[in-house]
Amino acid sequence: MATPLLPGASAASALSRREALVAGAGVLLWPALVDAQGPPVVHQRPFLFGSPAEVLHRADAGELATRAVPRLFSGLQQMNDRWNAWKPGELRTLNLALRAGRTLQITPSLTALIQAATRLERASSGMFNPGIGGAVGRWGFHDDVMQAGSRPRDADLAPWRAAAPSLSQLEWRGNELRSRNPYLQLDFGAYAKGVAVDWALDFLRTQGVADAVVNLGGNLAAMGRAGARGWRIGIRDPGAAGLLASLTTHGREAVVTSGSYERYRVLDGERCTHILDPSTVAPAGQLVSVTVVHRSAGLADAAATALLVAGPRRWRQVAEGMGVSEVLLIGRDLRGEVTASLAPRLRFADPAWQARVGVV
Ligand code: ADP
Ligand code: MG
Repeated sequence: MATPLLPGASAASALSRREALVAGAGVLLWPALVDAQGPPVVHQRPFLFGSPAEVLHRADAGELATRAVPRLFSGLQQMNDRWNAWKPGELRTLNLALRAGRTLQITPSLTALIQAATRLERASSGMFNPGIGGAVGRWGFHDDVMQAGSRPRDADLAPWRAAAPSLSQLEWRGNELRSRNPYLQLDFGAYAKGVAVDWALDFLRTQGVADAVVNLGGNLAAMGRAGARGWRIGIRDPGAAGLLASLTTHGREAVVTSGSYERYRVLDGERCTHILDPSTVAPAGQLVSVTVVHRSAGLADAAATALLVAGPRRWRQVAEGMGVSEVLLIGRDLRGEVTASLAPRLRFADPAWQARVGVV
């Protein structure tokens, strides 16, 4: 699903083609003239959290980074294995226990993940809801490869709607938890990559690497500066190959994009995105791309998903509830909205995009 190199000439025309590197829904750029250090060093792993993973750092971090990057990838691999909703691991074990109504003791790191997600679910008015994993699986999204097929029957989905699973239905005693709702099945697909990216930057910092970018399939965060002009991050065009816009990060900052154009299944001939509206347990169809810029990648990841679900009429209220102010949204008609705080930071790849995106 990732495009390995160079955006298409037309959409990226305002951006130098040789400075671009594309990966997943988010895109990463660096300045053409970085500085005396030269271009950043790029490390790639083909598949982590279902996407290609990338770490970039300045060339002068050489020694430190050589030691840190393999440990960084193995830390990410561990999170990937523990927090996968459908492959053997701690989360899958927990889901089996929840389904059977059993109490289970879990690790402190999973406890922290679930408790933070519970607060975000509430802040998002339930648009971000990692308790709907059963319905996500029912739609066939618990797979590495998205296969074509037919839509689930409404009768199959009705029980999920009626049971209305929510993380607030978890009953805690220290690190032990259970639920009386057997339909509550956890899936951190909308959040774990952001949390992992935050962890990765924290880890690099403790290893003495101060200037870096970590990208997990469009969930991306940067710290420090790539050179004189800082790290330049691109946002993919949801309608075509190439870029919609780019921005330069300030200090430590995450740029996270949730899109319906990359991970979807064609069901009965119709494209169905992997992001579900928890109230209908049907794919959220009104927006095709939402980008959130925030210091925390975890929050930005949860918020990008929530705003995509909220759609054009409700996104402002949800953004306010979650405390995010820098937002860019693109609708199905490829017209968009950008908040006044993000607008001046964006450099559109094409004047046509600028004309189609209103500042709100
Ligand atoms: P991506 O993983 O492509 O960056 P998201 O961050 O939006 O996209 O996460 C989508 C994933 O989150 C889905 O594959 C599914 O596992 C899960 N999910 C789907 N709908 C929701 C929702 N409303 N709230 C929380 N998680 C969701
Ligand atoms: Mg998300």
